[in-house]
Amino acid sequence: MAKILVSSCLLNCAVRYDGSSVEACSDDFEWLVDTQEIVSLCPEVAAGLPIPRVPAEICGANGTEVLDGTAGIIGSDKTDLTEQFILGAKLALELCRKYNIQYAVLTENSPSCGSNYIYDGSFSGTKIMGSGVVSALLQRMEIIVFSQHTVGQLRELISVSKAN
Ligand code: SF4
Repeated sequence: MAKILVSSCLLNCAVRYDGSSVEACSDDFEWLVDTQEIVSLCPEVAAGLPIPRVPAEICGANGTEVLDGTAGIIGSDKTDLTEQFILGAKLALELCRKYNIQYAVLTENSPSCGSNYIYDGSFSGTKIMGSGVVSALLQRMEIIVFSQHTVGQLRELISVSKAN
């Protein structure tokens, strides 16, 4: 049984900026929750951000650049939230280290949890390819990150390693 870090909002927890959760219903996701050891975290809430909170986006860059200090994360009200988002990423990594977690399934499009797509910082609903700050930090530490849309690949990976 593998230990998997999963975004809380994919597990019916209403922790998103607008107090909602995210539907992750797929056979692969249900299989994961039913058969593996799930460690749930909302990095933004763990970092002390409230529910609800203003939506936030990375400003024209991705999570790697935020970690490197060359880009920031702002709220729609122009508040600089970079520090809180980096803290959330560090807390996620700490949890992975504590439980020896090698895989994560994180919510696509989020400035924290996105792994393939994020919003572009214009608050116009425009997505760009890139990762959020949590995914960027976990990937930097060689934790493999999937989204709710690619969880089938993780299922395959776990099934193959079990068979070998
Ligand atoms: S996407 Fe990540 S940071 Fe955003 S609400 Fe879900 S768990 Fe929290």
